[in-house]
Amino acid sequence: KLTFDELITHWAQEKPHQTALEQDGEAISFADLEERSRRIVAMLRARGVEKGDRIAWLGKNARHYFELFYSGARLGAVMVPIGWRLAAPEVAYILADTGAKLLFIDEGFDDLAARACAEMEASPTILDTPTAKAEIDGAPAAQFDPAGADDAVLQLYTSGTTGNPKGAVLTNANLFSLRLPAEAAAQPWSSWDEDEAILICMPCAHIGGTGLGIMAIAAGIRAIVQAEFTPDGVLDAFEQGITRLFIVPAALQMVVQHPRAKDTDMSAVKYVMYGAAPIPLDLLREAVQTIPGAGFLQCYGMTETTGTIAMLPPEDHALDGNQRMRSAGKAVPGAELKVVGEDGTELPRGEVGELVCKSPSNMQGYWNLPDATKGALKDGWMHTGDAAYMDEDGYVYIQDRIKDMIISGGENVYPAQVESAIYGHPAVGEVAVIGVPDDTWGEAVKACVVAKPGSEVDAEDIISFTRERLAGFKVPKTVDVIPEMPRNASGKILRRELRAPYWEGRD
Ligand code: ATP
Ligand code: MG
Repeated sequence: KLTFDELITHWAQEKPHQTALEQDGEAISFADLEERSRRIVAMLRARGVEKGDRIAWLGKNARHYFELFYSGARLGAVMVPIGWRLAAPEVAYILADTGAKLLFIDEGFDDLAARACAEMEASPTILDTPTAKAEIDGAPAAQFDPAGADDAVLQLYTSGTTGNPKGAVLTNANLFSLRLPAEAAAQPWSSWDEDEAILICMPCAHIGGTGLGIMAIAAGIRAIVQAEFTPDGVLDAFEQGITRLFIVPAALQMVVQHPRAKDTDMSAVKYVMYGAAPIPLDLLREAVQTIPGAGFLQCYGMTETTGTIAMLPPEDHALDGNQRMRSAGKAVPGAELKVVGEDGTELPRGEVGELVCKSPSNMQGYWNLPDATKGALKDGWMHTGDAAYMDEDGYVYIQDRIKDMIISGGENVYPAQVESAIYGHPAVGEVAVIGVPDDTWGEAVKACVVAKPGSEVDAEDIISFTRERLAGFKVPKTVDVIPEMPRNASGKILRRELRAPYWEGRD
């Protein structure tokens, strides 16, 4: 079982001059990180932070954030990164839930932090980046008793796609368990060349951002931090030679469909990890063709499992019409997956039920939510809330979230399948499928469509297009054309927002 303290010490000895973190051309080596993190520990202690206390970060991705997280983790202070796109009451909700002592803020977030704190009874001390840096520079390098493998070091809030975000409490062991070289060595993508660089462009408030920093520390390689995702930033990073990245489907689409994409040198890219939401098959094919030299790895996982627990390997991304490309992959070494029925017993292969996971990366529990924790973690199995089936070879096929399943005339309809069919229509830019109340069917299928720029969407046309491709009960009864898709900061479509007006006063 590894810890941040051991890993940072190890890399500082093994490769002191290697860059650990880099942003906008400014870098810190492993040796300097080791030294600086001791100063940060001293600064945190001078501010009254000890093992088990929460510290929070409000801002974009920053080298400074990762330094604070890693250093706090050496001591056992628990970092809570908060999404910078959230509104003041949402920030206040998370801050109050954590009881954080210190709130570190990025440049430009004074106003949001002040508004959030104004809503709280007991608000944390706010430290802006210049103040924090001055205190760190003036602090001595601390000697301290490091946090152990089973101490909490990160409290990551779920994306809030299906309800209020919940704080998943994660320990050193959770963070590094599936990344131990011995477990992972069997897979080619688990070994790293010395000169590799990983791009962190997804928000650090989610596992797809912060998790890459954890991966970089585990592997002892260079992490390139970008403040926020932009398609240009990713294309620039490709040209500058980054070898791996993690990206959500909505962002991947912007990269591969960018006018610059075809002229960008992508030859350095070794692996493209993508996931966090279902990916339309056409987009995946387009991405594989646009970045031909790279191995594609679909990642399935959740905040509660410290990210990836299933992976679709590069060899299953062949463009020959193979069915595997629709799968989210199979359990990664060290994690176990099964599909269970409502009574918790394992279902035969091919039958749809709830996907559950036993893994050393499973969280300790939800912060302050004992009932939700009991409902989610049963006998060590994390209940994902995702409907899925598993084939004979252990590949899982995510249908959709159980909460989003539509029951129409007694038949189960998974919105993702309907969306995937509608995405094939040339005028459709984005689509979300929801269930709306219906006196005859209980629920009726509705598609909410955003047209592609320059195209017009005709509701009847969408309906007949879908009828040619899917069983009748899955075909939308109605289509709404909407100007924009509601999404959260993880790039996930908020179906609950689309559903809300139809269910007002009913559900
Ligand atoms: P909340 O739990 O607050 O409603 P959330 O579930 O979106 O939000 P995350 O932990 O960020 O919060 O996301 C985990 C979920 O994302 C999974 O349960 C699954 O529904 C979805 N997901 C993750 N990876 C994939 C993937 N490769 N394919 C399809 N869906 C995925
Ligand atoms: Mg969830």
